[in-house]
Amino acid sequence: MAKKNIDWANIGFGYIKTDYRYVSHYKNGAWDEGALITDETITLNECACVFQYAQTCFEGLKAYTTEDGHIVTFRPDLNAERMMNSAARLEMPQFPKERFIDAVTKTVAANADYVPPFGSGATLYIRPFMFGSNPVIGVKPAEEYQFRILTTPVGPYFKGGAKPITICVSDFDRAAPHGTGHVKAGLNYAMSLHAIMEAHRNGFDENMYLDAATRTYVEETGGANFIFVTKDNTVVTPKSGSILPSITRRSIIYVAEHYLGLKVEERPVRFDEVKDFAECGLCGTAAVISPVGKIVDHGNEICMPSGMEKMGPVIQKLYDTLTGIQMGHIEAPEGWIHVIK
Ligand SMILES: *Cc1c(COP(=O)(O)O)cnc(C)c1O
Repeated sequence: MAKKNIDWANIGFGYIKTDYRYVSHYKNGAWDEGALITDETITLNECACVFQYAQTCFEGLKAYTTEDGHIVTFRPDLNAERMMNSAARLEMPQFPKERFIDAVTKTVAANADYVPPFGSGATLYIRPFMFGSNPVIGVKPAEEYQFRILTTPVGPYFKGGAKPITICVSDFDRAAPHGTGHVKAGLNYAMSLHAIMEAHRNGFDENMYLDAATRTYVEETGGANFIFVTKDNTVVTPKSGSILPSITRRSIIYVAEHYLGLKVEERPVRFDEVKDFAECGLCGTAAVISPVGKIVDHGNEICMPSGMEKMGPVIQKLYDTLTGIQMGHIEAPEGWIHVIK
């Protein structure tokens, strides 16, 4: 086995076909045993439930090479559990946790030559997804499903260091109370596309969504949760039933408390508090933490004291500690690192 001849530092965040993908079919009330296959295309009936009624959910995690040469993933058990919750909310059958972890392990191992080397900054992105596959025309759940995992190498998220981004308060809502904001459903992303394109057209990197009911509390962005740091170094993260429970955010909270000895508050965060925070970041698997330098609310600018040049000091420490745990040079909490080979 030899690593593929890829310019790891310059591949960007796009799809590159790898050799193997995993598929398991659900039919007559049961998942089949599943298999690794080489065909990257899917043929479905034109009336498949996923096409007509968007019955689909997904996950996202990464495999990377640690300093001592192992290929590992980070907390895949939490992705498995979250996907089970997403499936239940969309009336889809759950793919069992142990099978999910086994399928991730097999898919990454089969594509080991595509896992970028340590130090390249690149990773192998893993995308488990599930969809209703049989024809459905009356609105109802499908009876047949596919659970799949595809992998694609992705480049370093930050080329030349993490520069703080500028975000805007969106006039659109991401998720309704009692809606689907807490699950990783494709439908949440379909309806976010117009809002993100509008933000880009107006010169912003991302949207800050407020709570849909009162528009007074901070929720999250289209694909990452917020963490704030107060002027006296308390880490604050918004709590709401319509926020997607980010595994990165949950891990950062643990790191803040148990590795850095910081105070953490998980609570509703009013938008009018944001101007008083010292640091702001977005957290998710792709970037780990992206620093936010400026938040614009209809022309009213909130400039974070940490500025537009670099991460604030607390967010930098959280970033360094979490990536240190992931890369294997800081000891991980029990069960966080899943060794593939
Ligand atoms: C996936 C996702 C996140 C980040 O979750 P991680 O588990 O940290 O990758 C945050 N918000 C939304 C809306 C998401 O879909």
